[in-house]
Amino acid sequence: MKLFLPRYYVAGYDHVSVDRLKENGIRLLLCDIDNTLVSAFEPDPNEKVIRFIRQIEAAGIKVAVCSNSTRKRTLRFSEDLGIQKAYYFSFKPLPYNFIRAMHHYHVEPGQTALLGDQIFTDIIGGNAAGLYTILTNPVTVKDKTSTRLMRFFEKYVFIGLEKKYNFRKGVFDD
Ligand SMILES: [Mg+2]
Repeated sequence: MKLFLPRYYVAGYDHVSVDRLKENGIRLLLCDIDNTLVSAFEPDPNEKVIRFIRQIEAAGIKVAVCSNSTRKRTLRFSEDLGIQKAYYFSFKPLPYNFIRAMHHYHVEPGQTALLGDQIFTDIIGGNAAGLYTILTNPVTVKDKTSTRLMRFFEKYVFIGLEKKYNFRKGVFDD
């Protein structure tokens, strides 16, 4: 069950505390796109997303995008953010692209955070790889068809997390 438990739980990406990342020794932030930064139906980052990424980078933390989405979507989105390393078709929870990103930036799993909205891809994948996992409340309730089934099972995970760790859905750290 611990594999499902995020280290840090936020109401939205813009609630992520840069100080908290720094206190935990984070040097690289891997960011999911769909329903983490924007809904799955918006092709480009908005001003608020751009400001968030700039704020993280200004604190000396590198940012890379790690999405399960297509090449086209991931690269278009990342280009507008000026992000150099964008990993698409990541097949999270598999760690392949986490490892590539850490290798590129010469950081260890303990220095890497993963920000995402899904337990079954982002949190399990990040925890299994030893990353500092950050679960965000999804940007919208609208999911792609492929995500809907996961959301169904997520409900049961939240019930389990509450029983075992007193982790409560909707009760955020920030
Ligand atoms: Mg997502």
